[in-house]
Amino acid sequence: MTDSRIPADLPDHIQHYIDGAFVDSVDGDTFDVLDPVTNQTYTTAAAGKKADIELAVAAAKRAFDEGPWPRMLPRERSRVLHRIADLVESRDARLAELESYDSGLPITQALGQARRAAENFRFFADLIVAQSDDAFKVPGKQMNYVNRKPIGVAGLITPWNTPFMLESWKLGPALATGNTVVLKPAEFTPLSASLWAGIFEEAGLPAGVFNLVNGLGEDAGDALVKHPDVPLISFTGESSTGQLIFGNAAPFLKGLSMELGGKSPAVVFADADLEAAVDATIFGVFSLNGERCTAGSRILVERSIYEEFVERYAAQAKRVKVGYPHDPATEVGALVHPEHYDKVMSYVEIGKTEGRLVAGGGRPEGFDEGNFVAPTVFADVSPDARIFQEEIFGPVVAITPFDSDEEALSLANNTKYGLAAYIWTNDLKRAHNFAQSVEAGMVWLNSNNVRDLRTPFGGVKASGLGHEGGYRSIDFYTDQQSVHITLAEKSHNPTFGKN
Ligand code: NAD
Repeated sequence: MTDSRIPADLPDHIQHYIDGAFVDSVDGDTFDVLDPVTNQTYTTAAAGKKADIELAVAAAKRAFDEGPWPRMLPRERSRVLHRIADLVESRDARLAELESYDSGLPITQALGQARRAAENFRFFADLIVAQSDDAFKVPGKQMNYVNRKPIGVAGLITPWNTPFMLESWKLGPALATGNTVVLKPAEFTPLSASLWAGIFEEAGLPAGVFNLVNGLGEDAGDALVKHPDVPLISFTGESSTGQLIFGNAAPFLKGLSMELGGKSPAVVFADADLEAAVDATIFGVFSLNGERCTAGSRILVERSIYEEFVERYAAQAKRVKVGYPHDPATEVGALVHPEHYDKVMSYVEIGKTEGRLVAGGGRPEGFDEGNFVAPTVFADVSPDARIFQEEIFGPVVAITPFDSDEEALSLANNTKYGLAAYIWTNDLKRAHNFAQSVEAGMVWLNSNNVRDLRTPFGGVKASGLGHEGGYRSIDFYTDQQSVHITLAEKSHNPTFGKN
C-alpha cells in the first residue's frame, strides 16, 4: 500500500465549532478516528458531552433570539445559501478526497455526493425566495393568512453513510428558513463535517448560527435530544436509535423528523428489460458500498426468469470492482469501521446457512487487511431468513423467487421496514397498481433511485416518521401560524351577550 491514497494536510485533531470558534471538549476528552483501509487511528476528535452541548445550544439560542439570521429577508438568506453552494462546488474535489478517505466510499461516488450537497443548498436558496405564504379571503367577510416563522434551535443528528451530503439535507432547509442549528455528526466519520465551519464563515453566515459538536451518540446526541431549548430534532440513522430518540424527546413534545433504516425490495417481473433490471439492481445494492438506506437489498424475481436472472446477476456481481477508496476505478471501497465490518461479515456467515451463496462470501482476494467485503449474493432466500428481514447495510443481497403478482406484493411487504421499492416490468398497469399497494415511502418504476429535489424523501413503518425534501422540509422547520382578520363591518355575533 502506498501513501498516495492518504490526502495531504489531514488534521491531527478535529474540534467542535461553537459560536464561531473551534474548541475542544470542556473535559478535554477525545475519541479515535480510524482509516477504514488500515483500521489505524489517523486522527482524534473532541468527544462532546452534556457540557459541550450546553455551550453549543446556548450559542445557537443567542443567535436565534438576538442575532440577524432569523430576522433577515428570505432573499438575503438566499444569497448566503447560494454562496455556500458555490463554495461547496469549488471545493468538491477536496471534500470528496477527505470523505472517501474517512468513510471508505469510492472517490468517484464521494465526488457525486459532494456535488449533490451543493445542489441541496442551491435548491433551498431558491425555494425560500419562491415560497409565498398562503392567504385566503372571503370578500367582505374575513381574511386569513399564514405566517411562517423559524422555530428556534434545530438539533441535527446524522449517520456516517454519505455524511456530508446527508448533513446538507438538514442544514440547507434549517438555515434557509431562519433557524439556528447544532449538528451532531456520526462518530465514525467526523472529518467532512468540520469543513462546514470554514465554508459557512466564508459565505457570511453569522457566528452562532451553525454549531458543531462531535461525540458519541449516547453522550452528545443524547444531551442534544434532551436539551429543553432545542424544540426540533431531525434524525437520520438506525430504526432502533430512532425509537430511543422518540422516547427521549416525548416529555418535551419536540418536533421530530426521522429517516431510518430499510430493507427495500426490488421486484423483477418476467416481462421486464432483463439487462436494465440486472444493471440497476447491481448498482442499487453495491454502490456506496451497500451502505445505502434505500439499497434494494431483497430482490424478488418471477420464477420463469429466476434461474437466468440469478446466473446473470451473480456473474455481474463478481465483476464489480472492489478497490482502494481513492482509486477512480473502484466501485466498492472499504466499509466504514471494523465494528460495522464485523456486523456485515456476521450476516455473510448467517447467509451461508440460510441461502445458496452464488457470489462473494468473504474478503475479496488481495485484501488482507481493512474493511473490504466481496459483493455477496445469496439466492433461494426464504422470507423468514434473517438476511431477508434484517438490514445488513453492506454489499450483501438476498434473491427470492415468486409465482404471482399477489405473492410478489406479499413478499415485498413482508418486513418491518418501508423505505423504498423498485419495480421492473413493462406492464404500466401492473407497475402503478404495485406502487399503490406496496408499503414504501418511495417507489421507483424501471428506474435507479434518482430523485428530483422537489419530491419528498422518507419511509413508512419502521423506516421513518415525516418526510424531508422540497416543501416538506420547509414545513418541518417552520411554525405555520395562521392569522385571521374580520373584514365585515359587524362582528360575527353582533347580539351575543347583549340580550
Ligand atoms: P445510528 O443510529 O447508529 O447513528 C446515527 C446518529 O445517531 C449518530 O450520529 C449517532 O452518534 C447518533 N446516536 C446514537 N445513539 C444516540 C442516542 N441515544 N441519542 C441521540 N443520538 C444518538 O445509525 P448509523 O449506523 O450511523 O447509520 C446507519 C443507519 O442509518 C442505517 O440504518 C441506515 O438505513 C440509516 N439511514 C437512513 C437514511 C434515510 O434517509 N432513511 C439515510 C441514511 C442512513
